[in-house]
Amino acid sequence: MSGFDIKRKSAGLDKLFGIRARLALLALILVAPLMLERARSLEETRNKQIAHAYSEFTRLAQQSADSQREAVASVETVLKSAAHIQAATSAFEPNCNTLTASLPVRLPWIRSLSIVGNDGRIKCATLDTLLNLDLNDRDYFKRARLARDLVFSDFLHSKYDNEPIVMAAYPVAAVTPESDLLVVAAINLDWMSKIMNDLSGRRGILAILVDSTGTVLAAPADMTRMVGRSLTGVPALAGAVTRAINSDQETGLFSFPSTDGVKRTLSFSRIPGTESRLLLIVDEAKVAAGINREIRNAYLLLCLVCAFVLVGALVAAEKLIIQPIHKLVTIARRFGEGDLSARAADSRLPAEFAPLARAFDAMASQLSERERDLIASNDRLTVIASIDMLSGLANRRGFQSRLDFEWMKAQQCGGELSLLMIDVDHFKLFNDTYGHPEGDACLSRIGEALAGIAAATSGFAARYGGEEFSLLLPNTTTGRALEIGEMARVTVQELAIPHVTSSHMAVTVSVGVAGVKPCEALNPSDLLEAADASLYVAKRNGRNAVAEHGLGRTAENGAVALAS
Ligand code: GH3
Ligand code: MG
Ligand code: MG
Repeated sequence: MSGFDIKRKSAGLDKLFGIRARLALLALILVAPLMLERARSLEETRNKQIAHAYSEFTRLAQQSADSQREAVASVETVLKSAAHIQAATSAFEPNCNTLTASLPVRLPWIRSLSIVGNDGRIKCATLDTLLNLDLNDRDYFKRARLARDLVFSDFLHSKYDNEPIVMAAYPVAAVTPESDLLVVAAINLDWMSKIMNDLSGRRGILAILVDSTGTVLAAPADMTRMVGRSLTGVPALAGAVTRAINSDQETGLFSFPSTDGVKRTLSFSRIPGTESRLLLIVDEAKVAAGINREIRNAYLLLCLVCAFVLVGALVAAEKLIIQPIHKLVTIARRFGEGDLSARAADSRLPAEFAPLARAFDAMASQLSERERDLIASNDRLTVIASIDMLSGLANRRGFQSRLDFEWMKAQQCGGELSLLMIDVDHFKLFNDTYGHPEGDACLSRIGEALAGIAAATSGFAARYGGEEFSLLLPNTTTGRALEIGEMARVTVQELAIPHVTSSHMAVTVSVGVAGVKPCEALNPSDLLEAADASLYVAKRNGRNAVAEHGLGRTAENGAVALAS
């Protein structure tokens, strides 16, 4: 890539990253670490909050499981003590008198206690209405007889009032092998659910007690409608619930993507001595939803703060940097256009720009000072360029500009303008006789004399060129000009500069006079030509003479010889 290309590219980048973009980038660089730190702390808070929600709920679930366990243990104790009392009394005849005493009132979840005879019918019960109920068809009843140990039923509807219950049966045979009596307790599921009330009201978390078939035995207050329903019938949960109830582990935890696409976690723990399990089903997305909302709001706030900082930085940059730079650029442009009166210090600029403004103003002062000097030098040069150094009179250029000026003035005021053309006679001979330096001195003396005449007549004397002088006479008639011409001729002769090769033995001059009333039809060169023509006449008349030649007249007609 050529150096030119690189330069062009970098100029493009410079344009892209203008001062505003650079400041915005700087603000972002400053804010970014804070943003990242805040984002990191928000994520940390989010994880902590989720972990806290889980652990709090797990603790509550553990408490609930412990309570369930205690309730089950209390049922076991009651049944076993009742069986022992029965065994102590009789192995074959139900002892109904002590039954009520075996059921303490502080165990409200035990709804009833019964003794079942060898025919499978209730012989005595704490609720009279249960007497004679046939339990032969109940599965738990058969299992307890066979196992000769404590057995809990799955979910059942009470034969008495159709209420949801769980039954527990304990054969007296476990104490006295010859007995075929059984002690049976009905467990109130309302009470089991009450134990779980602390677990209600949490979005995305479901705590539920199920039996060995997956039917809900107890649920927190907001989920009691689930009691009696089988979770294996809920498609989204069926697989996971089946896995939990079929597990031979006491406790377990696994995640499962359910059929509704939601990722859930299920933790289960078995209530010892029973086939029931406390399930904890967590919908991770819902649990995190509230926290996510809070985090989202915090991010939104963060973005707003960043936007605010960014806008603030841009506004501050505009006010503190861009605008002052624009003001200075405007002032520099005015300097460039020649307006050096502009002052940067007058514009209200931030303190940091004050030295720059002062430097600008100092530069402007120096520039205007130099400009003044330059103008003065120029004026001096113009004057020098218009002066003849030998005679001290104006040179041809100075004469020309004065002639133009006086012409215009006379044209405007309607005055007359006269001109004398004065030429030294036989000056070549003078130079040849006395040398060039002497010739210069002669010209200098004549110039001095003519300056005196000009001063006396309000005229303007100039060295027209070589040994030729001119005297411009504003507001002077031709007649008066002739007189002044004569005055000049006499004055030079009276200088009495020796000139041996002249017939007068002294330096003389010939004077051509012309006068005019300037008008649109004429111009200054007409006056010059007329004066020249008059001078020619004076020379022809023998020199040391004054001749007037009016404009438009021929030399012969207008010749006036005042001296020969
Ligand atoms: P005429 O009377 O017809 O004017 O004769 P002239 O000799 O004066 O005229 P001419 O034009 O033949 O000669 C002019 C002379 O003036 C020639 C030149 O050497 C001389 N001259 C012109 N300028 C200067 C000058 O600055 N210094 C000196 N010393 N001589 C000059
Ligand atoms: Mg001459
Ligand atoms: Mg001449």
